[in-house]
Amino acid sequence: MTQDAIAADRSSVATGDVLYSIRDLSVEYGTRAGEVAAVDRVSLDIRKGEILGLVGESGCGKSTLGKAMMRMISPPGRITQGELWFAGEDLMTVSEAQMREIRGARLGMVFQDPMTSLNPLSKIVDHLTETITTHEPSVSEAAARDRAEQLIGRLGLRVERIDDYPHQFSGGMRQRIMIALALALRADLVIADEPTTALDVIVEAQFLDLLRELRAEFDLTIIMITHNIGVVAEVADRVAVMYAGRMAELGSVDEVFLDTKHPYGQGLLRAVPNIELDGSDLYQMEGAPPNLLHTPSGCPFHPRCPHVMPICSEREPAFAEVTPGHRASCWLFQEHDGEGER
Ligand code: SF4
Repeated sequence: MTQDAIAADRSSVATGDVLYSIRDLSVEYGTRAGEVAAVDRVSLDIRKGEILGLVGESGCGKSTLGKAMMRMISPPGRITQGELWFAGEDLMTVSEAQMREIRGARLGMVFQDPMTSLNPLSKIVDHLTETITTHEPSVSEAAARDRAEQLIGRLGLRVERIDDYPHQFSGGMRQRIMIALALALRADLVIADEPTTALDVIVEAQFLDLLRELRAEFDLTIIMITHNIGVVAEVADRVAVMYAGRMAELGSVDEVFLDTKHPYGQGLLRAVPNIELDGSDLYQMEGAPPNLLHTPSGCPFHPRCPHVMPICSEREPAFAEVTPGHRASCWLFQEHDGEGER
């Protein structure tokens, strides 16, 4: 896809309708040492037709947020508060049976390692046809196979390989099969959790191209959960940055990467390897990720922040708009009566 086409795609979703709305969501995990606040009062709207990159370091809560959106948090984890609205439906109030239907048919998830999601004893054709006939009992076996073959072909795999088993495919091919499973029931929203981690750069580039094509062809909305900033810059329309289970920054790719507001995001970008570096050391962020058993007071980034002010450890900044559509959770951009440089 050309850079112009990507830019046109991005602008077309800049003001799209909201497909999924997360409101004040918290998820905790019970441990012997206490409750871990993995997702902490997160609110986020996902627009129809967009690719949203959800980034942050390991343990920041991004995968937990993805699972919570599917209502797939299992004990010792639990959603402790908040609302999940999908296409106008309140997912926190539907039964588990209804949720299974929605999960299969309209919300799809692609995991980092597809082998954990594919039954090694079932052929690919069986995975696909069973998915279709279970959710759409009126579809015949022959029609389901037909649809499965079309999908496999569309995803760039040879149709005759539909009778192979998962272990006979490479990692990149298995990712495509996972997407085919999500598309078999015409999902509206696909949440892809670190889908490119196991892929080499060539296969990764092909996979990202495919995602963009599928978004256009199937009117898909995609959430790409990743720690790989390059992948997000390449494929996403908007970016949400998480830190310590909370939203740190949200905006278009250009806003978040070229006009980064939150000091954590600035540090992340400075730490990305760059071939233009003149032999100097790569930037290293001070400190370590927070222990979510004892999230730091106020702004959770304050123990590591190079711009920390007295107010930062005392009061939590709002996740407020800096410019229309560009939000950051940082006192540097909000009125306050505390001391320190502005
Ligand atoms: Fe740094 Fe304060 Fe902004 Fe937090 S609120 S990121 S500590 S300046």
